[in-house]
Amino acid sequence: MSTTAASAPPAPDYVSNAPGYATHEVLNQAGALVGYNAFAGDIAFVESAKVFGADWADGLLRRTGAAVGSEKVQYLARQANRHLPELKTHDRFGNRVDLVEFHPAYHELMGLVFASEAHCFAWTHQGRPGAHVARAALSYLWNQGENGVCCPMGMTFASIPALRHDPALLDEWSPHILKAAYDDRPIYAKEKRGATVGMAMTEKQGGSDLRATTTTARPATTRRGSGAHYLLTGHKWFFSVPMSDIFLTLAQTDKGLSCFVATGWLPDGSRNRLKIQRLKDKCGNKSNASSEVEFHDLYATMLGEEGRGIRTIIEMAHVTRLDFAVGSSGLMRQALSQAIHHTSNRRAFQRSLVDLPIMRNVVADLAVESEAFLWLSMRLAAALDHEHTDRAEGLLSRICTPVAKYWACKRAPQFVVEALECHGGNGFIADHLMERLYREAPLNGIWEGTGNVICLDVLRSMQREPETVDAFLTEVRLARGADARLDAFTDNLERRLRNLNEFEPVARRVIEMMAFALQGSLLVRYSVPAMADAFCATRLDGDWGRAFGTLPNGLDTQAIVDRARIRPV
Ligand SMILES: Cc1cc2nc3c(=O)[nH]c(=O)nc-3n(C[C@H](O)[C@H](O)[C@H](O)COP(=O)(O)OP(=O)(O)OC[C@H]3O[C@@H](n4cnc5c(N)ncnc54)[C@H](O)[C@@H]3O)c2cc1C
Repeated sequence: MSTTAASAPPAPDYVSNAPGYATHEVLNQAGALVGYNAFAGDIAFVESAKVFGADWADGLLRRTGAAVGSEKVQYLARQANRHLPELKTHDRFGNRVDLVEFHPAYHELMGLVFASEAHCFAWTHQGRPGAHVARAALSYLWNQGENGVCCPMGMTFASIPALRHDPALLDEWSPHILKAAYDDRPIYAKEKRGATVGMAMTEKQGGSDLRATTTTARPATTRRGSGAHYLLTGHKWFFSVPMSDIFLTLAQTDKGLSCFVATGWLPDGSRNRLKIQRLKDKCGNKSNASSEVEFHDLYATMLGEEGRGIRTIIEMAHVTRLDFAVGSSGLMRQALSQAIHHTSNRRAFQRSLVDLPIMRNVVADLAVESEAFLWLSMRLAAALDHEHTDRAEGLLSRICTPVAKYWACKRAPQFVVEALECHGGNGFIADHLMERLYREAPLNGIWEGTGNVICLDVLRSMQREPETVDAFLTEVRLARGADARLDAFTDNLERRLRNLNEFEPVARRVIEMMAFALQGSLLVRYSVPAMADAFCATRLDGDWGRAFGTLPNGLDTQAIVDRARIRPV
């Protein structure tokens, strides 16, 4: 008797030796969307990059688009989210090490993202019009690939504006931050091929209200102020990427809340004085480690004016907020690509799902939403390109970046749920990409300012600088005369914006209207008539239901879906 026969249960007699199953053939499954180019195959994306001056980065965007659409990146993304980071507080000899161990897939993804310059492109090409647009396009792409690695990518990118508060610190660290390389070794940042940057602000007693910070800082020498060394003691309740080579943090001195820059490891090779208490067990964003830490005389350097820490670190937040608007837009684009792929390749009642009238309405409605966010993202990235040379662009960036962050983050979860439902049961199964997008979708709405906090921020900007309202209306009215529904909507919105009394309780509603007005204006100016018409009829003129898939009759849904379909290149 063979060993195989002895250990294996007897085969049921209905099992044949034919490939597949004896009971049935596998039919009518859509298969995976792989081997496509997430940039070059996306017609509206290519157009928007060109309109806002990033066509000179076309080669990089095409290469990154091919990587994001590759089977390899999707495989790495699945692996990195299945084999989760593990905290290793001690080595086998009992020494405290405070390391996080990742699956190799995570490191490989990080390598790809940092090699694509998604963390630095706008700074390494600073001053060249379109640099921020190209960088935002890279972020839009990687947010379609794997979201966990987008956290360190975005924070590393956003660190540069905060470091500008101290030119010496900027000179010291930017050469390391701007390298197009990732190095996973736990050593001092200056000895590495490239550096990642994190941000540790949130404490247990309050994240939105950072003034409640209890961590304290005392001078390590007689010198004080920006550039001086301090020792920090306290805790942080959320610290993502605790393996960051460099991180920004907040602590109280006797002059108030101040910003500090610290390294994960010290020049002598030892871990800086922080203890990782545990890793968060999160709803999504699983490949990325988020930790709770304690600082025990953490060695850090003050960055920016003492007592003005929020003002310093908010420079970082302004840029990360754009990144989260762009990121949620990218996430929606991926959900849409999956929904179009599935509904085009699965049949029911003798037709492709997407050709069934109600399904066509759902997919078209999602396509309108997605393209509206694409143009909004790219327009605001363009505003960042010109914010220092054109006052109107600076004002637009200031007021509309939080508007876009708020609205993209609010829409992403609903959008993903609808796209998931397009897949039927397959979309709800853990090895499908849709399941990961579903768990990821709410996150961007939480960090870097929750919905309410963002709305209050927009309100403050408008009250403090009324010219921001003018800059916003001027931008929207560039489309004046092209669509009566957009004009009427904007006039109504202007009446509300000119009277900011009693605004706070209704801030969400007005900010939603601001997003719609700007998206409508951009679609009217830059997209095809079918897309702009659908947006104006529904979002602006109110001929729409409360769920996706409620476009009115008479719109060219076929043209809308065809435009959103990823083209082979
Ligand atoms: C996965 C993950 C990773 C994270 N990583 C980091 C990190 O790396 N570094 C870091 O510093 N933080 C990080 N955070 C923390 C995040 O930034 C905070 O959770 C966020 O800022 C909200 O703070 P909070 O949790 O204390 O909620 P709270 O501030 O208590 O807010 C709770 C609710 O109250 C509302 N609220 C607060 N203030 C007001 C107000 N004035 N008016 C009306 N409503 C209000 C908020 O909108 C929210 O809905 C992370 C969070 C998550 C989920």
